[in-house]
Amino acid sequence: METDTITAISTPMGEGAIAIVRLSGNEAVSIADSIFKGKDLASVDSHTIHYGKIIDPETDEIAEEVMVSVMRGPKTFTREDIIEINCHGGLVSVNRVLEIVLAQGARLAEPGEFTKRAFLNGRIDLSQAEAVMDLIRAKTDRAMNVALKQMDGRLSKLIQDLRQKLLETLAHVEVNIDYPEYDDVEEMSHTMMEEKTREVHREVQSLLQTAKQGKILREGLATAIIGRPNVGKSSLMNALVHENKAIVTDVPGTTRDVIEEYVNVRGVPLRLVDTAGIRETEDIVERIGVEKSRQVLKEADLILLVLNYGDALTEEDVRLFEAVHDLDVIVIVNKTDLEPALDMDRVHELAADHPVITTSLIQEQGIDELEQAISQVFFEGELDAGDMTYVSNVRHVQLLKQAKKSLEDAMEGMEMGMPLDMVQIDVTNTWETLGEIIGDTVHESLIDQLFSQFCLGK
Ligand code: GDP
Ligand code: ZN
Repeated sequence: METDTITAISTPMGEGAIAIVRLSGNEAVSIADSIFKGKDLASVDSHTIHYGKIIDPETDEIAEEVMVSVMRGPKTFTREDIIEINCHGGLVSVNRVLEIVLAQGARLAEPGEFTKRAFLNGRIDLSQAEAVMDLIRAKTDRAMNVALKQMDGRLSKLIQDLRQKLLETLAHVEVNIDYPEYDDVEEMSHTMMEEKTREVHREVQSLLQTAKQGKILREGLATAIIGRPNVGKSSLMNALVHENKAIVTDVPGTTRDVIEEYVNVRGVPLRLVDTAGIRETEDIVERIGVEKSRQVLKEADLILLVLNYGDALTEEDVRLFEAVHDLDVIVIVNKTDLEPALDMDRVHELAADHPVITTSLIQEQGIDELEQAISQVFFEGELDAGDMTYVSNVRHVQLLKQAKKSLEDAMEGMEMGMPLDMVQIDVTNTWETLGEIIGDTVHESLIDQLFSQFCLGK
């Protein structure tokens, strides 16, 4: 049992008018009390906040004017006593307060240690702890909503329900094994086992179906910008990013490497990849770019295919259409400010059901329409963090797949008429695997590894 008192700066470094030094543990209140000039913190009510000054006991100097929150366990995030010292100064003063706190016997928290304590003290389960991590990393409001829901215990509740179903079934089978002389018990167990495994299988499957959207919310929609050299791929990327991080140049084929950018298009997180164009080439340096491009295409959730309005359609353009025709594509006809040379009828024909947007990036035209198309066409309003429970965590997805597999083994076993105590093994496996999602059956090393991915101060 960890009972020493930990501390860390729990607000992001750098900007921000207020910085918080947080303490958690048995000594949190007494340490704060020993350096605080103001009310006697040991006797104030829990969950109250107090104005005062932090004094360096070594020198008796005033270090900082602060507001101190006192929260006594177990009704706290870690279930331990928690003190939060709100400093309004910058980095220097908050570090000074931290040093004073450390000098009084608190230990600097490891990354994620506050959350780890919350988990170890039963305040939250593992999937909730992971949600805290997602929340910190969330790039859009929607991603944040998903994380918040998970933190709220939605996924946990669902998983617990599934486990409960399996457990009841297993209990039934136990009865059957203990009283083999009752025929109808055997019957009932068999029917129940079949029903419940099928039911749980269905639910696991539908959870897995949310994984793709969950992944998009979490990591962004992998978006590849493709097209012949010089059509305006980098310009498009820049237009979407509103910053000039990708190189824009007049020399064809200069986007040698794959560059990545994150943008938030109307709540949809895009992970933009600017590629060197998919085409045959003898140039070795370009070749690396092309190889990568093919890979990128395969992994893309959305393709932005760019054409030049001022150029006639080439064979290369047609090949690009062919390469992506069964993917999610938005066709962008750029450079509409130029003399028309592109056969638009043919473009629409090649584009088939995919939307065609016209832009003049140089005149900053058509970008709104494109953003509209991205948010509308791809999501069709379905990606809504609203009421759904999304699985967005790779570890959870893996475990759900594993659970699905052992459920299928169980179902297959029953179909082949295997004895129930054999089927029971697969169902027990499922129960255990699902338990790993919420941390009921996880190993110590995994816990350490998971929490070490956190930021300091969480
Ligand atoms: P990429 O090779 O496909 O990445 O193309 P770039 O984005 O590097 O653009 C190539 C050239 O086309 C640059 O000189 C751009 O300034 C220019 N360009 C981009 N968009 C437009 C446009 O809408 N109209 C015109 N006339 N030129 C553009
Ligand atoms: Zn480029």
